[in-house]
Amino acid sequence: MATIRATCTVCGDVELGTADVRVRVDPTSHQGTYSFVCPRCDTLVVKPAQPRTIDLLLASGVEYDVGTAPMELVERRPSGAPFGERDIHAFSSLLDDDGRLWEAFEAADSRR
Ligand SMILES: [Zn+2]
Repeated sequence: MATIRATCTVCGDVELGTADVRVRVDPTSHQGTYSFVCPRCDTLVVKPAQPRTIDLLLASGVEYDVGTAPMELVERRPSGAPFGERDIHAFSSLLDDDGRLWEAFEAADSRR
């Protein structure tokens, strides 16, 4: 059985067997996802996979399903800093002032 190295979103690099990994392939784009349950923390990890990664996983004997990947995994990620506590406080203070809240919405709309 081949050893597959993957990265858990919680604990980092882990080693898996082919039976621990599952591939889901979109038959039209040949892209998809692979998933596994982390052997250290039991987190279900699902990651997007390019055709080359899918080919390597299938060649090593990983089982697969055919179907489309969830849109969250293939859509473009927004750029910019992650939403933080400072943003929550700023938004919370806007809720106390309808005028400033409206101005903030208009400013955000004009940036699109
Ligand atoms: Zn883990």
